[in-house]
Amino acid sequence: MQDREHSSSADQRIMPLIAETAVSGTAYSFDMLFSYAVPEKLAAKTACGCRVLVPFGKGNTRRIGVVMKLSDGDAKGLKSLVSLVDEEPVISAELLRLAFYLRENTFCTYFDAVKTMLPPAMSVSAKETFRIVKNFTDIASLSPGAAELLQTLSCAADSKELNRLAEEHIIDNGRRLTDELCDAGALESDNVFRQNVGDAAVRMVRLTDRYITSPESFDLTPKQKQAADFLGEYGTAAVRETAYMCGITDSVIKRLCTNGAAEEYEAEVLRRVEDLSDEKRSPEDLVLSEEQQSARDTVLAQLRGKKPAVFLLHGVTGSGKTSVFEKLIDDTVKMGRQAMLLIPEIGLTPQTLRRFRSLFGERVAVIHSGLSLGQRLDEYKRIKRGDADIVIGTRSAVFAPLGNIGLIIIDEEGERSYKSDSSPRYHTHDIAKQRCAYHNASLLLASATPSIESYYLAERGAYRLIEMKERYGNAPLPEVSIIDMNLEREAGNRTEFSRKLAEEISANLKKGEQSILLLNRRGYHTIISCCDCYQPVYCPNCSVPLTYHKKNNKLMCHYCGYVSEPVDTCPSCGSKHLKNMGFGTQKLEEELSTFFPTARILRMDADTTFSRYSYEKSFTEFREGKYDIMIGTQMIGKGLDFPNVTLVGVLSVDKALYAGDFRSYERTFSLITQVVGRGGRGERSGRAVLQTFIPEHYVMNLAAAQDYKGFYNEEIAIRRAMIFPPLCDMCIFCFSGNEDISARLGAEAVLRLMNEKLRELQPKTPVRVLGPVRCSYGRINGKYRYRIIMKCKNNAEMRGFIRGVLTDAAKLKEMKSIALYADINGDVGV
Ligand code: ADP
Ligand code: ZN
Ligand code: ZN
Repeated sequence: MQDREHSSSADQRIMPLIAETAVSGTAYSFDMLFSYAVPEKLAAKTACGCRVLVPFGKGNTRRIGVVMKLSDGDAKGLKSLVSLVDEEPVISAELLRLAFYLRENTFCTYFDAVKTMLPPAMSVSAKETFRIVKNFTDIASLSPGAAELLQTLSCAADSKELNRLAEEHIIDNGRRLTDELCDAGALESDNVFRQNVGDAAVRMVRLTDRYITSPESFDLTPKQKQAADFLGEYGTAAVRETAYMCGITDSVIKRLCTNGAAEEYEAEVLRRVEDLSDEKRSPEDLVLSEEQQSARDTVLAQLRGKKPAVFLLHGVTGSGKTSVFEKLIDDTVKMGRQAMLLIPEIGLTPQTLRRFRSLFGERVAVIHSGLSLGQRLDEYKRIKRGDADIVIGTRSAVFAPLGNIGLIIIDEEGERSYKSDSSPRYHTHDIAKQRCAYHNASLLLASATPSIESYYLAERGAYRLIEMKERYGNAPLPEVSIIDMNLEREAGNRTEFSRKLAEEISANLKKGEQSILLLNRRGYHTIISCCDCYQPVYCPNCSVPLTYHKKNNKLMCHYCGYVSEPVDTCPSCGSKHLKNMGFGTQKLEEELSTFFPTARILRMDADTTFSRYSYEKSFTEFREGKYDIMIGTQMIGKGLDFPNVTLVGVLSVDKALYAGDFRSYERTFSLITQVVGRGGRGERSGRAVLQTFIPEHYVMNLAAAQDYKGFYNEEIAIRRAMIFPPLCDMCIFCFSGNEDISARLGAEAVLRLMNEKLRELQPKTPVRVLGPVRCSYGRINGKYRYRIIMKCKNNAEMRGFIRGVLTDAAKLKEMKSIALYADINGDVGV
């Protein structure tokens, strides 16, 4: 279905002569569509959206490309396509258009843009093989060099050696002679395409039964032993996680497996439909409340009218947004169209997935980065074939190859995970809007705490605002107490628990009801700090303090993976007075269990670097009542539905307010509002205790009252006064290099370049350029980082300007060893 346009154009196509191709591995500054002649033998099958093999650069090395446009014209002097990877287009006409959009708006290369549309398992590499044509006799027609090469190749003992010799020759001398031999018919070449597989993030490892029953029969190195101990404790873990936690490399784990002590396997993240659909529901049985029904009707009218539109559904926590989604998705597929539901975190997928699978069964496909490559490919194919007409997934699912979209829903739309922070640096909302415009579909953005940007657009009428103000079943919002922790300290309470919170937890334990305790990630790491010079112990590669992990008694860097033994002297001043700072979930758990020795505590503290496979199990067990208290960071704050939770405690989120990004208030407000909203969703009403050292702060008070509109009014006034998005757009130019001074000089040179160009351009809309300044994390992975911020309006003129800056910057001598990217409306505080 999605290739409709290809086939019709293929029918009437005049012989394509020129394929304009996006080629892999080009730098942004000289990226363009490269023109290749289409040889006759490939002409019938070459279509837009096919991957091809092309000769590239001086040495004509083979590269993978994607045909973006076909045209006829003079092919004289052009290089020719070598071969086709795909018999049929892998990228539809719609998605190809989107690739042009991505390049225009996110400053990525054409190839980066098309690559994001395909599942990672579809990235291929080409391997060339040669064969000597036996009955070739016309040696006389060859140049002396070619004849000599043919002679050398003929002496190869077998085809393996032949290919090695040919490959070496090409690396040293380019393709001139091999091409000549092929053209003369002396040599035949063939390209084998291999899918790139094997991602450590989804490879899991566990101990073998043999090791578990008799570990002493294995002779392990200390490092292997460490990994085995770790696995003994955790049962199973991702290879990457194991390596990280033990401070070892993947190869240690590999050897552990060859020894027979452990085994690797592919993560079975999502159990198949058979396992998930223990419960079958029918969309007809779902009865909406009046408010829910009215929200549905508004969107439904639009769906019937088949005109694109964007809705913002602002519904308080517990208003039952998911039920509205379910009905609307049902409506959409009943019309014969397709629906997409995007969610921010893979940790939330299983729960959502189960709900939708129980309603729609096999029609649901899932796409997120936690799936194994094979699974992702399978789901991709199911969607492309039309076997699945409902797609659920995280950010990258927005590119799912659906051909007839009716509805796209973005849940928790304010979450930052919808913004990609690596190339292409797109925002999911923008892609969804493009796709809805193409398909005449509706886009439904939903949240209890919409982003300030979205709400602003709704207020101005660009989006249509739908509000759900009541909780489903009229459940009251939790009663929130704000506790001034200064008073607790004055009263001599040195623990992390206010007296009020301790009382409430104890009351809940007595009643057999569940509690959730939230700790902010920023306050959650334990770092080592010097009592004399007040410096924390930093990672040697990054300007980030190392985190102490009690589990393995190591210091670790969460940015680059650096691991070291705990230190006993301060690296800055040599003092021996070091202390642990910060209050981790581990410590919280310890303190909690001394207070409440019988409480069953679930600690959810997996870091973003770790696999999230165990989440589902833990959440399910918590929901089933196997635990009394769950403690964790933001990841437990949002989107989850636990009907038996009646108490929510928020500990130490103050620091998040001062995170150095103009969105810090927004995020903190959202986090508190959402986590408070976890409570009292079932029959019993909920309570929340909000501990803070700044009890008068309006963010605390408005979040406690779940007053989004009040917060929005405060926040938009600040944004207006300071000129921040949504009152302007903000382009961040980020520089990184191996030396501090060269990164800074590069940034300064580009600043001069920008100012020059701005003088020439005299832009029609106001522009302010700020910086360069060191990034909040001035050094990551050994690279020094600077940024320039440009406040402007994101229009064609400014995008052209940004493109010009990026291209010309690459030519500056100061930028020789400096990497640079531009990101519109991305994070500032990094
Ligand atoms: P939100 O995502 O808006 O915070 P949920 O969709 O999680 O809210 O719904 C809150 C609770 O209300 C859930 O337990 C859900 O099952 C229940 N609920 C919401 N709408 C309905 C409905 N129409 N029928 C039955 N239960 C509902
Ligand atoms: Zn010191
Ligand atoms: Zn580091």
